[in-house]
Amino acid sequence: GVWQSEEFDKHEQVCFFSDEATNLRAIVAIHSTTRGPAAGGTRFKSYASDDMALDDALRLSRAMSYKSALAGLPVGGGKAVIIGDPRELKSRELLLAFGRFIDRIGNVFATGEDVGFSVADVETMFEVTPYVGGMSKGAGDPSIHTATGVLHGLRAVAEFRLGRKSFEGVKVAVQGLGSVGWRVARQLHEAGAELIVADIDPEKVTKAQNDFHALTMETDEIHAAQADIFCPCALGGVITMTTAPQIRAHAVAGAANNQLASPEAGAMLAQRNILFAPDYVINAGGVISGVEAMQNMPGRKKIDMAPLEDLLESIYGRLLEIFVRSEKENRTPEAIAQMIAQELIREQPLEEYA
Ligand code: NAD
Repeated sequence: GVWQSEEFDKHEQVCFFSDEATNLRAIVAIHSTTRGPAAGGTRFKSYASDDMALDDALRLSRAMSYKSALAGLPVGGGKAVIIGDPRELKSRELLLAFGRFIDRIGNVFATGEDVGFSVADVETMFEVTPYVGGMSKGAGDPSIHTATGVLHGLRAVAEFRLGRKSFEGVKVAVQGLGSVGWRVARQLHEAGAELIVADIDPEKVTKAQNDFHALTMETDEIHAAQADIFCPCALGGVITMTTAPQIRAHAVAGAANNQLASPEAGAMLAQRNILFAPDYVINAGGVISGVEAMQNMPGRKKIDMAPLEDLLESIYGRLLEIFVRSEKENRTPEAIAQMIAQELIREQPLEEYA
């Protein structure tokens, strides 16, 4: 049951939708609207059980509340999941049915792309509901802004852990040269950093060797690179009880979601004096740019937001605040980030928005 789920965290609203004609089964979890209408993407994937789908919606919507609060955004947290294999189930009719359900929730929730759910899917939904963000007409490719945010975060890491005000000569090991990782690598190279890179795609690795004079390592060894900062920009779960003891860098900071496979792996990093930048703080640039697109939705007051560049830059200050408190209070940066998010959600409700 919902109330008994370990992931249930006093969520405000959980909706279950089904549409027989298209085999749509979806769950929308709204964790909090204290700071504004809830925002969060739609994840379209198969689950081993309906309980696991519900848990995912509950867990990810709470994470969105935290991520948006820490990013200083005037929005709350929500998330949708559509249950099933998108390759088999996705159809225009299903997307429209899902869009109508989202429309029925009204002005407290807006959604966008996530795993298995593309910009094109969001644009189809827009035919029947305004409560979507992240379309190509909006802020554009989120990975550009995610990369900019990661750079601001890396500045905080270099300053706090390495005592460096610039990237000149700083060695960074970048795992994954995709939309975000490539941009991060390029900007680091331009700022004078020395790069070590790994990707499963050999073409990207060769291009990084040519363009950035990068050294290369195997994808399953790069976490142990002799570098100042290990920057995961590929998969989640890369910091495990096996990899954490092998890390030689002084800090782990990158774009990948859910880098810590377990809280114990995070504690192991802290024990080894390896600074960890909580991923949902440093990779918030994409969400920040997506929420910009939500500012003028019908049925509610305009959301007042700081300019995009200022919000992206604030990732630097937020991380420094987390690192300082983590050191002072002798708790992991992850634990401090959660505490600050909870404080922001509890104590700084914004003016009524609807
Ligand atoms: P992407 O798919 O464009 O890039 C991923 C890259 O990692 C690819 O080049 C791929 O070949 C490589 N890769 C895959 N497996 C690998 C492995 N085992 N070792 C090394 N490289 C491997 O994805 P992206 O949009 O750049 O996102 C990267 C990470 O950042 C993901 O974890 C994503 O969830 C997270 N993230 C992205 C955004 C965004 O705006 N795109 C926002 C927040 C978080």
